[in-house]
Amino acid sequence: MDDRTSIRKLRALVSEFVRERDWEQYHNEKDLALDISIEAAELLEHFRFKSEREVSEIMRDRKKREEVEDELSDVIFGAIAFANIAGIDIASAFVRKLEKNRKKYPVRVFKGLNKKYNEV
Ligand SMILES: [Mg+2]
Repeated sequence: MDDRTSIRKLRALVSEFVRERDWEQYHNEKDLALDISIEAAELLEHFRFKSEREVSEIMRDRKKREEVEDELSDVIFGAIAFANIAGIDIASAFVRKLEKNRKKYPVRVFKGLNKKYNEV
């Protein structure tokens, strides 16, 4: 199974999950964009006020790590649901955006540098 097939499979799983629950009626670009942001905030919640050492401990703790993985999956679910209703080819859009980022962050300038493109 190549990457594109994996994405196709995830899209089908999300689509099935939504259809089984008759949730298409609630899925539109605005609400799914909100969902992505809310789930990203839930992911962030695990790290709020944590030191670098505490974050490492969270990621080594099996239960806490799974909670983080769950929130990351919720973000991905929202992104895939968004792509499904908007008819976005995720793989193509992702590769195209990565190409834009390659131009925005050329290796010769940004290698080892954690600055934003407009700060250099
Ligand atoms: Mg969640």
